[in-house]
Amino acid sequence: MSKATLARLAKLGIASKFDLVLHLPLRYDDETHLYPIAAAPPGKPALVEGEVVECDIKYRPRRQLVCHMQDGSGVLTLRFFNFYTSQVKQLAPGTRVRAFGEVRHGFFGSEMVHPRYRVLRADAPVSESLTPVYPTTSGLGQDALRSLIGRALADSDLSDTLPPAVLAPLKLTGFREAVLYLHHPPPDAPRPALEERQHPAWRRVKFDELLAQQLSMRLSHRRRRSAGAPALASRGTLARRLMERLPFKLTRAQRKVLAEIQRDLAQPYPMQRLLQGDVGSGKTVVAALAALQCIENGYQVAVMAPTEILVEQHYRKLAAWFGDLGLEVAWLAGGLRGKPRRQALERVAKGEAPIAVGTHALFQEEVRFHNLGLAVIDEQHRFGVHQRLALRMKGTRPNQGAQPHQLMMSATPIPRTLAMSYYADLDVSVIDEMPPGRTPVATRLFSESRRDEVIRGIRDACMAGSQAYWVCPLIEESDALQLKTALETFQGMQKTFPELKVGLVHGRLKSDDKARVMQAFQDGAIRLLVATTVIEVGVDVPSATLMVIEHAERMGLSQLHQLRGRVGRGAGESTCILLYQNPLTPTARERLKIIFENHDGFEIARHDLRLRGPGELLGARQSGVPLLRFADLSIDLDLLETARAAAEGLLRDDMDAARAHLARWLGERHELLKV
Ligand code: ADP
Ligand code: MG
Repeated sequence: MSKATLARLAKLGIASKFDLVLHLPLRYDDETHLYPIAAAPPGKPALVEGEVVECDIKYRPRRQLVCHMQDGSGVLTLRFFNFYTSQVKQLAPGTRVRAFGEVRHGFFGSEMVHPRYRVLRADAPVSESLTPVYPTTSGLGQDALRSLIGRALADSDLSDTLPPAVLAPLKLTGFREAVLYLHHPPPDAPRPALEERQHPAWRRVKFDELLAQQLSMRLSHRRRRSAGAPALASRGTLARRLMERLPFKLTRAQRKVLAEIQRDLAQPYPMQRLLQGDVGSGKTVVAALAALQCIENGYQVAVMAPTEILVEQHYRKLAAWFGDLGLEVAWLAGGLRGKPRRQALERVAKGEAPIAVGTHALFQEEVRFHNLGLAVIDEQHRFGVHQRLALRMKGTRPNQGAQPHQLMMSATPIPRTLAMSYYADLDVSVIDEMPPGRTPVATRLFSESRRDEVIRGIRDACMAGSQAYWVCPLIEESDALQLKTALETFQGMQKTFPELKVGLVHGRLKSDDKARVMQAFQDGAIRLLVATTVIEVGVDVPSATLMVIEHAERMGLSQLHQLRGRVGRGAGESTCILLYQNPLTPTARERLKIIFENHDGFEIARHDLRLRGPGELLGARQSGVPLLRFADLSIDLDLLETARAAAEGLLRDDMDAARAHLARWLGERHELLKV
């Protein structure tokens, strides 16, 4: 194969013979049936055959090759606007030609523009199967691709990786049968089912793909489970003392997930649990109670969050809760320098501080734990796989292979199918209930042209005692521009309403300043907080009941949902105003409609999955995890469930089959999953 061809194949993601086998058609042409010219159905491609009666280059109205052919039923004009002069000779009168294209029966007779055609030397049988049309790239024609794939099909091992005992109850097509059918379906194949990928042959391929994914995820789950971890027995003394001090009772859902975590922590292998719960469902307190179980057993806890504002808030909350219990919380802010930093590091290293909170600064080289037993990762989707790994490496006693337990938290709800597939290496707990007394946030849409009106409304509300966030637009291309806009908005507000206490918070602010502003907002000294999207995650100021989001049309669904989740955290009624700029793109319009109509994070996530697909939704985590090519998680839930069960079965009963299947589907890519 030439270098150029290899490069083109690489563009299509084809690197091996088996990749060719799995390069499946987008659609099919039907060249299995010859139509008489006069009977060729209009409006859809058909195959006709006849004898050339005349073939010339014409110059009016523009240069073109015009060829008339007939088959006894009628005459057909073949018209080409791009052609080689040699074609005139090739299509000399008397030549037998088979042409495939759409026939138009017009006023001047029937014609076909740019048909695919073939000169017939002898009698040639028509194709016995539908002609596959593959996704391709420039420079690689369908014919070339077809012959490459044909050869790959002929000399690849297409035998089934799955034993009959597994296949039979699933009522799935055999692998060879499925693949051959998809490449060369018989003339009577149901084309809609094929093209919509719902045919049993497609289901087999999708099943195999999902099975490979499940196998590799479950394997990496097992591999991690084989590491040791401190068994942290659940005594519950500290937890009980904290609960007595809380101004609220845990919800049923919080108690349920806490029990799951407590059980995991008591095991001698590392917990790998994802705690999901919508914005405001109360994950922090669950993490705090889990931390106490760890501390009670003499081990340390690390709490990592993606922004300094969030770390600061966790610090305050935990310090208040744990201070009463006589426990010291160390705060490892990124901005911390000099002596305070050295002291904090030392107290963590000596084990004097049983709990440390910080941003990714926590997993820097110099941070040493005395004996880390639990790592809590808040808003885990903001961290990459590698960052989470680094924290795990701070293991309890790394030289003995023991690892800390991991609790990951996420307020970006992941639809069940996504969680079951891309997070199959984790155990998942879900808080599916909100603390009582919350009223849903009223969402209102305003066009940018009414900005002044909105500003006045917010001013009046703040003067009357409310607290509000004013979220400045996201400017993708430039942090600096985003900052500038925030500054201008802030100054504008200050100037227009000198009597109003306005604050400004953004990512570039020094840690101390950020902390001071947030505290002032928390205390109610600041009534209106102008902010960039740094407040998107985690911020918890229950007294704030108003939010304005500028240029809401630029934001994604989950971002809007997260932002809106900053209000509606107390008992008061809250309102979120979405300012948008016309004209709206159709997607932006749909997003605004969804956010307007929905409050449930899981529901919104399902829409998000539909609009953006899994790659975008998974964000950072996507690195290293091969995405699905064939299965569609928004429609193939049943296959996913079957594949999951089958994976468990194979790993239990038939490791050889599991290995063969993984080798076929993932090959070297499997290595990537070994993290
Ligand atoms: P998230 O799940 O988004 O991280 P938080 O942990 O910040 O949510 O909790 C949101 C708010 O709800 C906090 O002010 C918290 O103190 C409060 N809260 C948590 N659990 C309960 C509960 N069971 N009843 C009432 N309020 C609660
Ligand atoms: Mg949170």
